This record gives sequence, structure tokens and C-alpha cells, in this order.
Amino acid sequence: AKEAGRRRYQFFTVGMQRSIRAKAELEQELRRALERQELILEYQPVADVLTRRPVAYEALVRWCHPRHGMVSPARFIPLAEETGLIEPLGRWVLETACRQLRVWQGMGCSDLCVAVNVSARQLELGLCAADVESILVASGVRPASLILEITEGLMLDGRAESCGRLQALRDLGVRLAVDDFGTGYSSLGYLKRFPVDELKIDRSFVQGLPDSSDDVSLVEAIIGIARSLNLALVAEGVENQRQLAFLRDRGCGLVQGYFLGRPASGEAVSAWLACPSE
Ligand code: C2E
Ligand code: CA
Ligand code: CA
Ligand code: CA
Repeated sequence: AKEAGRRRYQFFTVGMQRSIRAKAELEQELRRALERQELILEYQPVADVLTRRPVAYEALVRWCHPRHGMVSPARFIPLAEETGLIEPLGRWVLETACRQLRVWQGMGCSDLCVAVNVSARQLELGLCAADVESILVASGVRPASLILEITEGLMLDGRAESCGRLQALRDLGVRLAVDDFGTGYSSLGYLKRFPVDELKIDRSFVQGLPDSSDDVSLVEAIIGIARSLNLALVAEGVENQRQLAFLRDRGCGLVQGYFLGRPASGEAVSAWLACPSE
């Protein structure tokens, strides 16, 4: 038994070392990926529920790894946050998305917006209104055309510095959206403290519409909150006509998901905007 215990212990430490080494390698690779321009952005439409026309595109980062192919952000964003690499990565995402939006606006889509994900770590590491302002000025994009998507956790964590930075961003005229709304937290008090503009209903609540009575109740409640606080509302992860019809009938103004459009390259979106089709 002792022997088995020892072996298990060794296996555990060896495994841990391996994962630390793997992490360090991945960190090095991510650093190089930034320099070698292996990161790209895809854009997914956020559409008006009635017209189905895009009012904004959400920028989603991908890593085109030379050996592993497309790596999902779910795999490398947490690592980037841990290592601080999220700072240059996030800056690159903001710059690239704003430049892309300027191109689309120049094609005649002057009311189109771009939404960019900002993680709590980026604000902790110092992303501030002055940074965002200089990116907007350099790209020629109006502040009101930029939506920053922040997860609920950050709003709740209530760290004074991050709160101040969010407020300063809002003062700049940038719009703030609460991403993955409804996941993980029960207190809604932060909606009073933070002047947010938009809520995004997490796709886990949209999935079961219209058959799951729990999802129906939750989504109706969120629609009520958005309406009474006068916030724009996006339902994420809309994959079929029945979900869309439910959201339209209940008055959820904006929808996003594979049914409306999958994330696509900037060029593909440009081609579509130049010649919109169904
Ligand atoms: P998110 O912000 O909640 O983004 C929505 C995710 O849902 C995207 O996954 C999108 O491709 C996926 N999705 C969209 N429509 C549908 C649908 O109809 N069905 C299903 N099943 N999925 C759908 P993706 O691109 O893998 O991104 C995952 C997460 O990574 C994002 O979740 C976001 O939190 C994070 N992320 C992506 N890009 C960035 C970035 O530039 N910066 C930061 N900080 N985080 C990012
Ligand atoms: Ca998002
Ligand atoms: Ca989301
Ligand atoms: Ca999410």
C-alpha cells in the first residue's frame, strides 16, 4: 500500500511538472504568436431581431497555430490572463477591430458598431480610457461605435480601480455591455453602480427555448430587467428559428448566434456588406 501511495505521489508530481512545462511552452509560443502575427480576428454579426440585419459585429480572437491549427480562445485567453500577455494581446484586438470597423464604415455602413471582449485582468493591468481613446483616434472610429463586453464577475468584484476605469471608459462615450449575463451571480446591485448600456443573455439560457419552462422564465425575467432599466438586450447562441421567434415575440431586440451568422473573417464580412444576401 505504501508503495502504491508513493507511486501515486510520484505520478502526481511528474504530471504536475509536465503541465507546468507544457504551460511554459505554450506561454513562449503565445508570445511568439503575437510577434509573428499568428492571431486573427473573426467577426460574428449581432442582428436586429426584426430585420435580421447586423447592427454590430463581435470580434473573436483565434490563434492559427502552425502545427495545432486553429486554437480556441477558451484555451489561450486564460493563459494570457495568467501571464499578463493579455495586455499586448488585448491591445492588438482593440486596434485591429477598430481599424476593421473604420473600413466597413467607409464602405457606407456608418452606423455599424464593433464589440470587443475585455477581460477583468486587462483593466487590472491598467487598460484605461486614455489607451482606448488613442486607439479610437488613430483608427478614426467614434467612441459610440465601440462596445466593450465585460463579464459580470468584474462588475461584482468591485475593485475600486477597475470601477474607476470602467466609469472613465463610459465617460469617453464608449458603450459597455455585460457579457454572459445571468451566469454565476445573483446580486444585481452592480447594475445600479455601473452605468452599463447593454446586457447579453448567456447562451445557456437561450439553448432550451422555447421548450424548457425554466429557460423561458429566466429569459422573460431578463427581458423585464433590461426593459425596466432601459438597456439594450442581446440574446447569444441563437441557433434556430424557434428560438428566434420566441425572442422576437417577447421583445428581445438583438440576436446573435449561428442561425444569424457564424464568426467569419473580416474580408468575408466586407464581401457580405458590399452585397448583402440572405
Ligand atoms: P463569448 O464572448 O461569450 O463569445 C461567444 C462565443 O460563442 C464564441 O466562442 C462564439 O463563436 C460562440 N457562439 C456564437 N454563436 C453561437 C451559437 O449559435 N452556438 C454556439 N454553440 N456557440 C456560439 P469563441 O469564439 O470560441 O470564444 C469563446 C470566448 O473566448 C468568448 O466568449 C470570450 O469570452 C473569449 N474571447 C474571444 N475573443 C476574445 C478577445 O479578443 N479577448 C478576450 N478577453 N476574450 C475573448
Ligand atoms: Ca462576448
Ligand atoms: Ca457571451
Ligand atoms: Ca461566454
